[in-house]
Amino acid sequence: MQITSCGITDVGLKRGHNEDNYLINEELNLFVVADGMGGHAGGEYASAIAVNTVEEIVTSMEVDQDALGDITDPVEITRHKITHAIRLAGRRIFEKAKEQPEYHGMGTTAVVLLIDGGNAFVAHVGDSRIYMLRDNRLEQVTEDHSLIAEKIRHGLITPEEAKNHRMRNVITRSLGYQEDVEVDITVRAIRRGDQFLLCSDGLSGHVEDDEMEEHLLNYRPQEAARRLIELACERGGEDNITVVISRMEEV
Ligand code: CA
Repeated sequence: MQITSCGITDVGLKRGHNEDNYLINEELNLFVVADGMGGHAGGEYASAIAVNTVEEIVTSMEVDQDALGDITDPVEITRHKITHAIRLAGRRIFEKAKEQPEYHGMGTTAVVLLIDGGNAFVAHVGDSRIYMLRDNRLEQVTEDHSLIAEKIRHGLITPEEAKNHRMRNVITRSLGYQEDVEVDITVRAIRRGDQFLLCSDGLSGHVEDDEMEEHLLNYRPQEAARRLIELACERGGEDNITVVISRMEEV
């Protein structure tokens, strides 16, 4: 397996500091983006806990034995491990926020991609996204946990109406606001040439899916990421912007 990857995070043009965090671990083929929020200095702390906890748990192969029961299928075990890692991150953030007043109200999103055994494990909580490019077509493979995404799913508003909706930043699931959280996770077989793009809403809020597709098709990962960040900044750079791209060169 050979994977080319890169990640860039940018404070954007309107925010005083960057509360996003990302991780690329090339040994594990693990990629994470977390978009923190809330509290005085809480946002960047929450997203750092998320990124570090996921890496720690995936590295240590620690699994929740009670939850695992008699599961022996390696794919199922990996699914459990990732889910456990994200939930543990949420619990750690929740505890810190409770203990220390300056971190009160902090939380974060998390999107996690692990390439293992010919499979892509895609897990998330919140409105950060993972896209997959295959056969020249880009598809969003996470479903935003946001009020607006739910309204679209229920046919209450159109995607067009959602773009400038005043509630577009309201997320319905995140790490840290409650002790435990439900994690969405899917597994798909990878193919040579597949590309994955992980991003915070600082990118997806300014750049259309077809523009991301065009960039992934026309540029190498590093150049695509750089240009996408530039594009988000040109359009206002309202929020912190993070992009991680990984490309399956050989499978
Ligand atoms: Ca954000």
